[in-house]
Amino acid sequence: MVNREHLCSNHPFATPQTIESIAHSALAEMRFEGRISFENLEFAARDFGNRYHLMPSAVLHPKSVSDISSILRYVYDLGLSSELKVAARGHGHSLEGQAQAYRGVVISMESLRAPEMSFHGGKHPYVDVSAGELWINILHESLKQGLTPRSWTDYLRLTVGGTLSNAGISGQAFRHGPQINNVHQLQVVTGRGEVVTCSDEQNTDLFHAVLGGLGQFGIITQARIALEPAPKMVKWIRALYSDFSTFARDQEHLISSNNSFDYVEGFIIINRTGLLNNWRSSFSPKDPIQADQFNSDGKLLFCLEVAKYYNPRESDNIDQDIDTLLSELSYIRSTLFLSEVSYVNFLDRVHVSEVKLREEGLWEVPHPWLNLLVPRSRIHEFVAEVFGNIVKDTSSGPVLIYPVNKARWKSGTSLITPDDDVFYLIAFLSSAMPSSTGKDGLKHILSQNKKILSFSQRPYLGIKQYLPHYSTEEEWEAHFGPHWEVFYRRKLSYDPLAILAPGQRIFRRGMAYALQ
Ligand code: FAD
Repeated sequence: MVNREHLCSNHPFATPQTIESIAHSALAEMRFEGRISFENLEFAARDFGNRYHLMPSAVLHPKSVSDISSILRYVYDLGLSSELKVAARGHGHSLEGQAQAYRGVVISMESLRAPEMSFHGGKHPYVDVSAGELWINILHESLKQGLTPRSWTDYLRLTVGGTLSNAGISGQAFRHGPQINNVHQLQVVTGRGEVVTCSDEQNTDLFHAVLGGLGQFGIITQARIALEPAPKMVKWIRALYSDFSTFARDQEHLISSNNSFDYVEGFIIINRTGLLNNWRSSFSPKDPIQADQFNSDGKLLFCLEVAKYYNPRESDNIDQDIDTLLSELSYIRSTLFLSEVSYVNFLDRVHVSEVKLREEGLWEVPHPWLNLLVPRSRIHEFVAEVFGNIVKDTSSGPVLIYPVNKARWKSGTSLITPDDDVFYLIAFLSSAMPSSTGKDGLKHILSQNKKILSFSQRPYLGIKQYLPHYSTEEEWEAHFGPHWEVFYRRKLSYDPLAILAPGQRIFRRGMAYALQ
């Protein structure tokens, strides 16, 4: 139960301000294995989106799970008389302040290094990791054991806790489901400060709540991640389509075949001059002469991107397998491009762009991203409207488009997806040029996003936001639809004072408890 007595008996006439200052001086006196800091907090008020800057009052750099549990217990015991909130911050790669806590406490999860990564082999190998670990580190350590996680995000400088709080979707998700499908067990500190181990067998409701739970039910401190034998190399392939129906048919064929590529994604290109020429720095055209003659100017094109993993001794068979798979597809023959890279370089491919953009000062710009999950039954309508009438240019950043099989996705988690068996991830990954007032400026991109959203929110379309962002409870209720009741009930069970992840703007502090 909430220990309201604690404050009431000691400070009977305390106002909200004095309660906050009492709370902060008490935090300063608490003993942690790590440290709590009240200065140099600016980093915790920033994220990759670069549009929301909410300054916390303190940042905890935990060294142990008990550091996290102590602070949550303390805040919980403050009860309804305090406004203090707590946000876990992974690598701060949220887009709209989701890992920030205005005047609250941010827990910087990357300092939690205990216990060390520990690998378990056998028929079903797995690794136990701290939730503040970056996926790139897990990849490097797993490869030393000849193993690898199965499901990824396109970019690996993200933490386990951060992606598991969303889903973790990439080109392997059609086969293995998102990252939240590939985790066997979690250790979680709830909004009451309790440390709980959960899995499909133990404390199942909490396990399901936390997966895709937007940080609302607890702070993930450890995760047990499924592994498989690691390949050494990857054949990475791109090919273009000018007709969306053919492109979508081929993508859907690939994700439903048993013997397919290991990774299936795609992206949309509008009016790119010298597109194929730009690819030549990392890919080789299958037919250089014909590729030279292909002109992408003024065109709306759909690029299929696939990859097949292999080990060098199998390279003869792999080429045959790929030829067979490609022969079933209807891409524009002159636009087939191939590349061979190491498995690490393939998975860490976005980092290459990061390094370049950082050099040009273009990484830490505003990122008004929009991610949508569109049911297969509505994808043609969506593409016709959005790429026919709204988006006329893709120069401000990639637009990804690829389907996944819902049957491979775990049910009962907090992640909300469309109802169809197959749905598409469409990701508008724009970067806004800081002082631009043109098509690559923040104002233009935000207004375009608004138009896309206003179309997508028509209820009959059944489109859902991924990495969702809303301002009102009504919008959140609409997002969750029939799942809102379960989400709400879980909030009451695990974080009744609504202390956690305030940057998601789903619950007001104290609100859930007040309605209990
Ligand atoms: P943060 O931004 O720090 O946190 C995200 C949310 O989770 C916050 O609400 C935070 O409070 C909460 N949280 C963080 N850690 C914990 C924890 N341990 N326990 C409980 N809650 C916690 N996503 C995909 O699915 N697929 C992609 O391919 C993909 N590519 C991306 C590429 C780039 C360049 C970027 C910037 C993001 C990409 N993302 C992708 C989105 C990414 O998965 C999310 O933004 C994710 O939240 C970022 O992880 P993070 O560790 O920085 O989390």
